[in-house]
Amino acid sequence: MMISPRLRTSKIRLLFISALIGAAVIAFGSIRPARAAGVGFGPSNPFYAPSPLPFQAPPFDKIKDEDYQPAIEAGMAQQQAEIRAIADDPAAPTFDNTIVAMEKSGQLIERVMAAFNGVTGANTNPTLQKVETIETPKLAAHEDFIYLNTKLFARIAAIYKQRASLALDAESLRLVEQYYDRFAHHGAKLSEADKTELKKLNEEASSLSNAFANKLLAATKEGAYVTADKAALAGLSEARIAAASQAAKSRQLEGFVLPLQNTTQQPDLVALSDRATRQAIFERSWNRTERGDANDTRDTIARLAQLRARKAKLLGYTSFAAWKIEDQMAKTPEAALQFMDDIVPAAAAKAAREAKDIQAVIDAQNGGFQVQPWDWNFYAEQVRKARYDLDDAQVKPYFELNNVLQNGVFYAANQLYGLTFKERHDLPVYHPDIRVFEVFDANGKHLALFYCDYFKRDNKQGGAWMSEFVGQSRLRGTQPVVYNVANLPKPAEGEPALISFTDVTTMFHEFGHALHGMFSDAEYPTLAGTATARDFVEFPSQFNEHWAIYPAIFTNYAKHYKTGVPMPEELAARIRKAETSNKGYIMTETLAAAELDMQWHLLPASAALQKPDPFEKQALETTHVNISYVPPRYRSTYFSHIWGSDGYSAGYYAYLWTQMLADDGYQWFVENGGLTRANGDRFRQMVLSRGNTEDLAKMYESWRGAPPNTKAMLKNRGLEEPPAK
Ligand SMILES: [Zn+2]
Repeated sequence: MMISPRLRTSKIRLLFISALIGAAVIAFGSIRPARAAGVGFGPSNPFYAPSPLPFQAPPFDKIKDEDYQPAIEAGMAQQQAEIRAIADDPAAPTFDNTIVAMEKSGQLIERVMAAFNGVTGANTNPTLQKVETIETPKLAAHEDFIYLNTKLFARIAAIYKQRASLALDAESLRLVEQYYDRFAHHGAKLSEADKTELKKLNEEASSLSNAFANKLLAATKEGAYVTADKAALAGLSEARIAAASQAAKSRQLEGFVLPLQNTTQQPDLVALSDRATRQAIFERSWNRTERGDANDTRDTIARLAQLRARKAKLLGYTSFAAWKIEDQMAKTPEAALQFMDDIVPAAAAKAAREAKDIQAVIDAQNGGFQVQPWDWNFYAEQVRKARYDLDDAQVKPYFELNNVLQNGVFYAANQLYGLTFKERHDLPVYHPDIRVFEVFDANGKHLALFYCDYFKRDNKQGGAWMSEFVGQSRLRGTQPVVYNVANLPKPAEGEPALISFTDVTTMFHEFGHALHGMFSDAEYPTLAGTATARDFVEFPSQFNEHWAIYPAIFTNYAKHYKTGVPMPEELAARIRKAETSNKGYIMTETLAAAELDMQWHLLPASAALQKPDPFEKQALETTHVNISYVPPRYRSTYFSHIWGSDGYSAGYYAYLWTQMLADDGYQWFVENGGLTRANGDRFRQMVLSRGNTEDLAKMYESWRGAPPNTKAMLKNRGLEEPPAK
């Protein structure tokens, strides 16, 4: 095992949908006696031993809410005993008795956290939230126990020093280097006094992150737009209104409820024709965490930024960003800033052209106002319809969820990699909406289990994500059990789930992560699957989005849900053409969020406690993305990627960086014959199966034949267009 991303609810959130990966690896084989185990933990606890279910799938039919906490406590105690045994081993340090022993440690804690992260992310409740609040700082301290263990680090450093003479294979050598770098990165070289200080900072930061996440969940729920007046919802489809009515009922309210999504913009703003309703919803979104009530997050994030800057200083860095980016593909904040600065002018110029088109529609309708953020999507949709004659209501009947899944997402994986899928109804799930598929390789061998949980619930975090209940490792003899979660609108009882093309893209995206997990062919869990750098991990997912629109795939799934008639080619052509529409806005709102993230984390330790509102304004000014009609995709106070955990802090740029990789990578397929098994197998062999077993920049380059560049990314988003006439 190794520590960080697998234990804590570390989240990878995706660009357009926002995803969460907290890869969690599970155990196989001998569990050491849990003598140090917590009170109330014994064989009756379903986490006590590896799951007896096929592929060690979590026994959700046996797991009760009250089973988690004792298992987490026992898991930490057990791993601490394992780590002590390694650190205190009287034998001289060797790769096997230290590094491999660590890879085998922590199987109980990983097993329970994999299930716990799954349910707290997608199906939480007050009991689980309470456990999370209590255990999160303990898990942070547990991580410190490992990373700041002096005797353990001395052993790792000794092995690192002699690594050249140990005749290790390439993956093992990479593992040694990763261990050494990560320990150093976490402060293993600090003095004892500084280590104590670091532990204190980590614990406070972890508690604040947890407080932030709980405030945000409550604020987002309370931020829902509620009305008794059906007329205020003019423009929404009858199905959407029925869903709003159902949402009200489930909250014991009269009338209609439109729940908030986690982004600044809200999906219903595309359709709502009443400007006052749009403004009200937008403002509820924009101010959700700045109401001066118990869910206000301003003090929390200001303090968190300060703690992070202090932590970076303690570790010898000028800023948290400098510390955070060191082990990424970009290596320095300057490289990430430069990459963004190079795109800002083209993105802002495209957004300005789009604003002009939108204003023209408003003026033509004698609107008498300047476009505001709450108007943008409503009129952008009209521009899109006028220009591409594309109507969501016309398109959605061709995208029925199950059909998209089986004949689109799965079909693409079949054509590229030879995979086949068989639904299983015998494995327990944590909610009836979840489906389970067994995945087979081209040779008929079992490859993985795939769970999907697509519909929105009030007790599910916003966005979409992938993670694992069991991670792949040859050392542990485990095969992947991966899952995708999304927040697609649940249809009213008896209605089909008709989704937008954006939602289709989300499904392909998350499945791209799933493939990265399922194809993993690593010896060591620390280097397996999606356990790569943040500015690499969104590459396979965004790459996989390209197949959603690929003609041979698209024609296989885009069929009318009632008649089975394929989508008419001219409508399909309009969807393809519309792909660049509104991309200036999307790119700019993403850049604004990414620049905001970077500015918060470039603060030096000497900086005063910031006031989030003026800080935000200044940060957007400095980076040339303070554009009235394009607010950042996430405002500082509800930017859960960067505050809810530190997974994406100083790392939101990675979404754009990996877009570059995804588009540049897809370009390789275009240049080499597109959708073929040979191309898919080569990509799987050289990239998707490799996890973090080699240097990522080198891995990319040897597959692609050149370093990545932004050419395809700018072209695909229409950012190369000449200025509008
Ligand atoms: Zn993603």
